[in-house]
Amino acid sequence: MSKQRIDTKCVQAGYRPGNGEPRQIPIIQSTTFKYDTSEDMGKLFDLEASGYFYTRLQNPTNDHVASKIAALEGGCAGMLTSSGQAANFFALFNICETGGHIVASSSIYGGTFNLISVTLKKMGIDSTFVSPDCSEEELNAAFRDNTKAVFGETIANPALTVLDIEKFAKAAHAHGVPLIVDNTFPTPVNCRPIEWGADIVTHSTTKYMDGHGAAVGGAIVDSGKFDWMAHKDKFPGLTTPDESYHGITYAEKFGPEGAFITKATSQLMRDLGAIQSPQNAFILNLGLESLHVRMPKHVENGQAVAEFLEGQDKVESVSYPGLKNNAYHELAMKYMGCGGCGVVSFVLKGGRTAAEQFMKRLKLAAIETHVADARTCCLNPATSTHRQMTEEQLAAAGIPAGLVRMSCGLEDKEDLIEDIKQALDF
Ligand SMILES: *Cc1c(COP(=O)(O)O)cnc(C)c1O
Repeated sequence: MSKQRIDTKCVQAGYRPGNGEPRQIPIIQSTTFKYDTSEDMGKLFDLEASGYFYTRLQNPTNDHVASKIAALEGGCAGMLTSSGQAANFFALFNICETGGHIVASSSIYGGTFNLISVTLKKMGIDSTFVSPDCSEEELNAAFRDNTKAVFGETIANPALTVLDIEKFAKAAHAHGVPLIVDNTFPTPVNCRPIEWGADIVTHSTTKYMDGHGAAVGGAIVDSGKFDWMAHKDKFPGLTTPDESYHGITYAEKFGPEGAFITKATSQLMRDLGAIQSPQNAFILNLGLESLHVRMPKHVENGQAVAEFLEGQDKVESVSYPGLKNNAYHELAMKYMGCGGCGVVSFVLKGGRTAAEQFMKRLKLAAIETHVADARTCCLNPATSTHRQMTEEQLAAAGIPAGLVRMSCGLEDKEDLIEDIKQALDF
């Protein structure tokens, strides 16, 4: 199976019906599963046999879709979560407990930044943020004895910085910890971080994977390559007996390939319950079936819109990794071979007012707090997500008041450019 190409995996991986079984992944809309004897069910609770007993722990629909995403990323195991936030929380909390420390790129999604800097902090987990552009020395200096993981985003939302995955993986491994990469924006169609040394990959499947603005969801994929037992003292949750599961030592019983996802499922999902509904997993799979067809079109439209905006008088600057003059162009070409996604950000001369005027005039592109949809959408942080900030505060945060983030959808690029052209005529 792993020899198949990505396009085939998008369509077929994760589910292989038997003779006379449904061709499409069945939605197992059932909270529970029936057994003939208590003994049969007991084996499942003891993790002695694999099977289903309660959908919060595992559900066949979710498992098919999770294993498709694992196949796409080149990992060995995967799980779905209720949202991208839950995926990142589980991926970190599975190996990082009170007293631990995380090294993270400072250029990440706002929700994840808050998760690490505020919520995990309240749980006794410290963090050090480093610029994605930092030198190897600066990166190495961020580690402490209690560091448990390194975290970054392949293409950061919304800054559109590109992570030098090999640089971050090298530093993580030199300090005996895994690299976790949120690969939401490029998706495995454009980048597979595990091939560059990442150990764990996360997704907000809400974005391109679903791709139709239909279902919030998340996913975690384990490469199976990190040797937890080789760093036994750092990861007691995986390398010492779990008293809440009959003294099972995950890394011993399930090996490097099964330990991480089994623990995240049987411990974190059991106790925290952020499960994706089977209905949403089914919708997600419909998106995955065309991901390899949609991503090149999102990239084509993003590139065309970015190139058009570059030549416009009212536009101060354009940021898109696919542009030759972009600071991350070389990294984008190395890791993705293209701009990587359909999200473009640009700054209009004239600040907040100009952005408001421009966006009001757009006919195709809708104003939304969303990205990675089939329909083009845009957002001006200064008048929406960051509206409580003054012009000075915005400037200090590196968010110019005239910044517009546009997520190019799957429409004809000429129609998108015409729409932008008439909207710029304010
Ligand atoms: C949207 C997003 C998230 C959060 O995902 P939700 O599904 O909204 O919880 C995390 N990381 C990145 C890069 C995102 O774009």
